[in-house]
Amino acid sequence: MTTAEKTLFTVLRADAPPVPSLPPFGQFIGGQFVASTSTEKVDVVNPATEEILTQVPAGTAEDVDAAVEAAVAAKDAWAATTPRDRSAVLLRIADIIEANREVFETLEAANTGKPAAVAEDDISSAIDTFRFSAGAARAYSTLGSDDYAENHTSVIHREPVGVVGVITPWNYPLLMAAWKIAPVLGAGNTLVLKPSEQTPLTTLKLAELIADEVPAGVVNIVTGPGRVVGNRLSEHPRVDLVAITGSVGSGQKVAASAAGSVKRVHLELGGKAPVVVFADADLEAAAKGVRSTGFWNGGQECGAACRVLVHESVADKFTELLVKEISEITVGTPGAEDAEIGSMISKAHYERVLAALDDVRKDGHTIAVGGRAIEGPGYFIEPTVVTNVPAGAPISSNEIFGPVVSVETFSTDEEAVTRANETIYGLAASVWTKDSARSLNVPRKLDFGTVWVNSHLVIATEMPWGGFKGSGYGRDLSSYALDDFSRTKHVMYNRG
Ligand code: NAD
Repeated sequence: MTTAEKTLFTVLRADAPPVPSLPPFGQFIGGQFVASTSTEKVDVVNPATEEILTQVPAGTAEDVDAAVEAAVAAKDAWAATTPRDRSAVLLRIADIIEANREVFETLEAANTGKPAAVAEDDISSAIDTFRFSAGAARAYSTLGSDDYAENHTSVIHREPVGVVGVITPWNYPLLMAAWKIAPVLGAGNTLVLKPSEQTPLTTLKLAELIADEVPAGVVNIVTGPGRVVGNRLSEHPRVDLVAITGSVGSGQKVAASAAGSVKRVHLELGGKAPVVVFADADLEAAAKGVRSTGFWNGGQECGAACRVLVHESVADKFTELLVKEISEITVGTPGAEDAEIGSMISKAHYERVLAALDDVRKDGHTIAVGGRAIEGPGYFIEPTVVTNVPAGAPISSNEIFGPVVSVETFSTDEEAVTRANETIYGLAASVWTKDSARSLNVPRKLDFGTVWVNSHLVIATEMPWGGFKGSGYGRDLSSYALDDFSRTKHVMYNRG
């Protein structure tokens, strides 16, 4: 890397090590980096400075075909390894990430504009995901054999699915890759992964660092646009399952392409998490909770606490507390001291969020704090609270995916539940109350894959993460992810 290139990276801390070397920029196929069949490139940008960090190949369908061929060639040998062998590889990957954590944090922050604390949390969670899957893969078993028909003994085997196509988003690039790679490999599959074209650096770095630890062809990475590389992975006849974390629109396209070969689909899509604040809630705790989890990663978070429904009797008090909290948030570049939120991921996304704020004004809602772009360079937007939002307003159901939280009111528990469920999404929600009956009853009525009580966005690697309704199906994390990347086979023996 040249000195000029080094200045493009925002160093996270004054005592941080030298800027890490960039990963090789080719397609990682069959255990090595090879040239793409395309000479076209995609710019990789630092959104906090708007400078181009580097370029990666705009991969092609032919690149995907070569990667799938490598994954198919490797699958039988990998499937035949024992859980203990696979577990050892996953633990080694975790150790490699940990040993290089500053490299990963620096690359991630430079490529996404996220604050140091968020980048650190991402990398810690990625390490934990590999360690959990290493243990879970060994602890995993099926029902013991037994007789269910006369003179016949049944045995259930859990088998890998085969070759898994993985498509990841830009908001947590390495972490979302880890959420898939760890259980997919743990369950005995090989994979071809396409990172977001905007944020491929840490995924490529991982491939570079684990190349000697994982048998050739078990992990393959192809960079490039979703409509080309992602689409080919989804339709490829020799890919047995395709898993995407991304927007609803991309998930629909993946499922449609996958239908041609009747392959299994695993969808982790968008969210619009309601935060239901009852009159008996600890309002200060709820306001602080929305500050930390509505604005984590700049609100570019599928489970973000972005839509508050508060009881009308405490709405003024809660809004006052929330506006005070949000007006104290510091926005800054990854290395800036005390930066709580960073930039939007790209110019296009920054413009999308600003357009959503224009719609808020046109719809006659009140912007209680924030609402504007912050002068560049960098794609920064003020932390924003929108109030005066009536039932059924578009802001209550459309995912903005930026530093914007809206506040609505309700008058009865039934109304709170009905309104919270009035969204196409079903990923996550939270309920804030001190009433024990409410804390037990309301979560059961909410149509979301995760419901927190007096908390929000606390993720445990041991617990499943995934949505209902438009947020997709399939589960990340926990042993349920191993289930999702496995198939069961029944073998019946005639003892007669
Ligand atoms: P996106 O849908 O634009 O892109 C996600 C990935 O899909 C990228 O790699 C992209 O190249 C690829 N893609 C795009 N079109 C495709 C196509 N036609 N075929 C195959 N692949 C295609 O999403 P994004 O903007 O990168 O990420 C933000 C979205 O991801 C938000 O909606 C967010 O809620 C969601 N998300 C969900 C979770 C979750 O756990 N449910 C986690 C993180 C992000």
